[in-house]
Amino acid sequence: MTTTFEGVRDKVLAGERVDRNDGLFLLAGASLLDLGQLAAEVRRKRHPEPIVTFVIDTNPNYTNVCDVDCTFCAFYRSPGHDEAYTHSVEEMLERIGRSAEKGVTTVLMQGGVNSELPLDYYLELVRAVRERYPQITPHFWSAVEIEGMAAVSGLSLQEVLRALKDAGQTTLPGGGAEILSERVRKKISHKKNVTVSWLDVHREAHALGFRSTATMMYGHVETPEDIVEHFEVIRSLQDEHGGFTAFVPWSFKPGNTPLVKKIPRHAGPNQYLRMLAASRIYLDNFDHIQASWFSEGKKTGQVALHWGADDFGGTLFEENVHAATGFVNKTSTDEIKTLIREAGFRPAQRTTLYEILEVF
Ligand code: SF4
Repeated sequence: MTTTFEGVRDKVLAGERVDRNDGLFLLAGASLLDLGQLAAEVRRKRHPEPIVTFVIDTNPNYTNVCDVDCTFCAFYRSPGHDEAYTHSVEEMLERIGRSAEKGVTTVLMQGGVNSELPLDYYLELVRAVRERYPQITPHFWSAVEIEGMAAVSGLSLQEVLRALKDAGQTTLPGGGAEILSERVRKKISHKKNVTVSWLDVHREAHALGFRSTATMMYGHVETPEDIVEHFEVIRSLQDEHGGFTAFVPWSFKPGNTPLVKKIPRHAGPNQYLRMLAASRIYLDNFDHIQASWFSEGKKTGQVALHWGADDFGGTLFEENVHAATGFVNKTSTDEIKTLIREAGFRPAQRTTLYEILEVF
């Protein structure tokens, strides 16, 4: 039977789960305006209050040394490179301390996969942040870094995660998922066992009580089928433990990456809004879908709040990974509140776990 927008809409409004065919239709066949209206309706059902949340956060990096060589990455430097750096635990604590003075409550810290760093380095950072800055949630290390810790220490993923938990860590960022399809992984990050490991790390983490985010970087070599596969595997994992707090998509930025030769431009706002709305409809077991003023621009971020998103991301006082591609946006807490209000919603500051701290 041919998929129609009315058919998908009736299914969604009746509370039925959409399938792969519906997903392909949403990504490649539905009109953008129909899609936005349906996604906004699904968002209103889940979050009836016209509130949009944001977090005061920062994304420092502790090392840019990495030997995974992803072709979409402009941030890393190979071991021994002139521009390679690794900061000590004390240096990172000083930076985090300066962020705490600015009201930061989430520090999303990631780096390259640096095989010179022992597991104790990571554990010490988590412990020290918990002790010195109890108001800050250490939202540290993407899945590939956790895998690197397991390789360096000889421990299993579960043992590494348990050690991080014992040190005081409770959440993980979702970076490094890109597109969870074997076909895409082989093309853009051949050394990274993305599909299995990203899912394995998050599955193990959720089983131990961690919460994490699921991300998606699109706009490179993927097809709509690959995106549906991505939606499908994260929705299935969410069915297992309910450990994901939010879904966060963004477009690939080609500047200064090896992939720029094949993909010279980043995907535009229309594609972003389509991804966001399709994810709100497909991921029926995710509470929060994040709009990004940072990765897509402030105006697109505002429009995205009407295409299914209920969260505006963070203040991102420091960010170096996107910046390495030459793509830079800056904001302040006050401007975020204004942008949310201009879009027709009330801003609310939240924690890493999406608990509301204050409605403005
Ligand atoms: S994306 Fe991460 S794992 Fe891949 S090269 Fe860059 S720093 Fe390394």
